[in-house]
Amino acid sequence: MSLREQLCEYGRRAVDLGLVIGTSGNLSVRQGDRVAVTPSGAALDRLTPEMCPIVDIEGRLVEGDLQPSSETPMHLAVYAATDAQAIVHTHSVFGTVVATTMTELPPVHYNALLLGGVVRVAEYATYGTPELAANVRAAMEGKRAALMANHGGVTVGATLEEAFEATRLLEWLCEVYVRALGVGKPAILTEKQLAAVVERSLDPPSFPRL
Ligand code: 13P
Ligand code: ZN
Repeated sequence: MSLREQLCEYGRRAVDLGLVIGTSGNLSVRQGDRVAVTPSGAALDRLTPEMCPIVDIEGRLVEGDLQPSSETPMHLAVYAATDAQAIVHTHSVFGTVVATTMTELPPVHYNALLLGGVVRVAEYATYGTPELAANVRAAMEGKRAALMANHGGVTVGATLEEAFEATRLLEWLCEVYVRALGVGKPAILTEKQLAAVVERSLDPPSFPRL
């Protein structure tokens, strides 16, 4: 699948799963110094490959008639600072709830380790601004995900599929935490408990053969 076809595919999936509504959210995928990005103001479930602009890593339009997403500066800032090859940004409900009420998402489930443990909430700035790009870049340091205050979430991956799965996981973790808060006081996993999970995953016991 071409980069642009991938944007169409995962844009559709994001809408189907209710991770974005209307024209909110944007996706990008990188190959070398070219980045295919969703166009600004377009419904993500109605994209065609030709609709998706291609920009270089400086943000200059290389191909396409439509304007790149307003969050292109944020995508490019994250590419510049990480090894990400794809980025997904949504306004998913539980992610936005956490981003509106907290300064971080604490690890209440060991799967948070897949995103780097604690997920930081980037300081608020107006959408599409270099300031927001800088805040997200800082919040993303050493992580696969960040939340954006009063806005939504952003995840990275080595592929668009990986970044998309990270977005699904981020939303699931946020939902678990928000729902847990409604039931009682959620226990936060300790550093020691998280370290034990890492150790266990690096050295799984093998089952003896019969
Ligand atoms: P675009 O339609 O320009 O991608 O903007 C949507 C969005 O989520 C802005 O933060
Ligand atoms: Zn947004």
